[in-house]
Amino acid sequence: MKTPYGRECRYFYGDYYRGRNFEECRLIQSKEDGRKWEPILCKNCPVPAILANNGCPHMVLSATIKNFLGHKSVRVDAYCTKSHQTVKDPNVGCDVCHSQ
Ligand code: SF4
Repeated sequence: MKTPYGRECRYFYGDYYRGRNFEECRLIQSKEDGRKWEPILCKNCPVPAILANNGCPHMVLSATIKNFLGHKSVRVDAYCTKSHQTVKDPNVGCDVCHSQ
């Protein structure tokens, strides 16, 4: 589904049927400390680009909301379930599959 900023993201869900205006990110869980997901986070989120650049089925993404001086952004971490290691650059993936 496309985010409010026009980029395709499989984690975005919006329901606008019959006047509803429900939107959620199914990757980022809102935290009890007030760091809640809001649609503006989609604007500069790196996830849509990662999904477009790397379709590896073994890579699992996790994301958190960072708050730096009142500016919220999305931080993404990636893990490979095949090589069992953290993926440094999720846009590229780890080099296990590429080296075969
Ligand atoms: S915050 Fe990022 S991962 Fe979540 S729906 Fe928006 S673009 Fe997708």
